[in-house]
Amino acid sequence: MQIKIKWFGTANYILELGNVRLHFDPFFFRNENSFPELQTKKEEIKDINAIFISHGHFDHITEAGWLAENLEIPVYCSEIAKENIINHVEGKIIEDQKYSISEVAKNRIKTCKFHDKIQISPEVSVELIKSEHIKFDLVTILSRLFSWKFLKQIKSMAHLGKAFLMGDVFGFSTTYLDKNIISFGSLWHEYEDELRKHENCDIFIVPLAGNSKRHMAKKAGKMVDILKPKVVIPVHWDNFYPPISRLENLNPFYKYMENKHPNILIMMPKMDEEIVIDV
Ligand SMILES: [Zn+2]
Repeated sequence: MQIKIKWFGTANYILELGNVRLHFDPFFFRNENSFPELQTKKEEIKDINAIFISHGHFDHITEAGWLAENLEIPVYCSEIAKENIINHVEGKIIEDQKYSISEVAKNRIKTCKFHDKIQISPEVSVELIKSEHIKFDLVTILSRLFSWKFLKQIKSMAHLGKAFLMGDVFGFSTTYLDKNIISFGSLWHEYEDELRKHENCDIFIVPLAGNSKRHMAKKAGKMVDILKPKVVIPVHWDNFYPPISRLENLNPFYKYMENKHPNILIMMPKMDEEIVIDV
């Protein structure tokens, strides 16, 4: 059996499971200094069954409204993320980011709760895992989040809060026949009981961003210890919106994996390129 994944930077990727294609955290709003450069345009995205949003931060939602409108597909997310998506589409958060969105498309954005299970087809379902957001340290916040360059593009300070409200944070347990893919939009390792439910999963898509390289390795490493996946796919390590983001150093994570989990395969995705995994 084959599982295909195409990554577009951040936690933005399409999972192809037989004839079902799921799009997670669509974010194509990268700036000109982002690295690696994303070639795929949102207009090229097609044949998607549903969109899933991990949380309401801007780097996880910017194209959700546009895709809901143009591909006529459902978006599953938290209440706050839904508000952010609609505010964003209506141009209330970031300048020059206004799409027209119909009431029908707005109604395609479905609010969900932890542990909801969405059946996509007889073979594919997605369950929402209770999770949280990685805690930024103060230095990260001051040096990167509040950059003047970014603030200039935000319509007003009043909308800044809306742009960053994250709401509930979901992880995803995607089941395709007897295979299980666990993925997150932000790294959260502390709900051990939640993670343990998904022990021995086939694929773990892990977001490596938002902390020092050592902390990231430790937190992601603990998740791998519990989940015991066969394959690990690191995402979110790209420099998606400098200076808010940076290219992450994954060496401590690689070292951890080499020492503790030499038998787990790490597949490093390349932007715009499909990975095919035989499971
Ligand atoms: Zn976030």
